[in-house]
Amino acid sequence: AMGCTIRSQLGLDLGATCDELGNLVVDAHQRTVVPGLYAAGDVVNEINQIAVAFGHASIAATDMHNYLDDTKC
Ligand SMILES: Cc1cc2nc3c(=O)[nH]c(=O)nc-3n(C[C@H](O)[C@H](O)[C@H](O)COP(=O)(O)OP(=O)(O)OC[C@H]3O[C@@H](n4cnc5c(N)ncnc54)[C@H](O)[C@@H]3O)c2cc1C
Repeated sequence: AMGCTIRSQLGLDLGATCDELGNLVVDAHQRTVVPGLYAAGDVVNEINQIAVAFGHASIAATDMHNYLDDTKC
């Protein structure tokens, strides 16, 4: 929630990067710098609201679908 400590350590341990506040850095498709690792919701920005997390998840899910298609997994 707003004002709470960002708990992004799991993502960082996996190789993702964060900004100075600890938010995981993602591109427009919610992708971190680690191939196949996505981040969404409170862990990526300061707009800590449910609708934002849902929106991020939708974007990420669409890209995951395309990613899996591309890799034929
Ligand atoms: C008291 C309160 C009131 C709020 N009121 C509103 C409101 O009225 N409207 C609104 O839009 N938003 C509200 N929010 C904010 C909203 O709850 C968040 O923005 C939303 O839940 C973010 O979703 P998320 O999936 O990003 O994170 P979360 O819902 O926090 O989900 C993250 C999940 O990851 C799990 N997790 C964390 N670390 C690990 C780990 N290492 N391994 C495995 N699991 C892990 C956690 O247990 C948790 O279940 C409120 C928040 C709080 C705390």
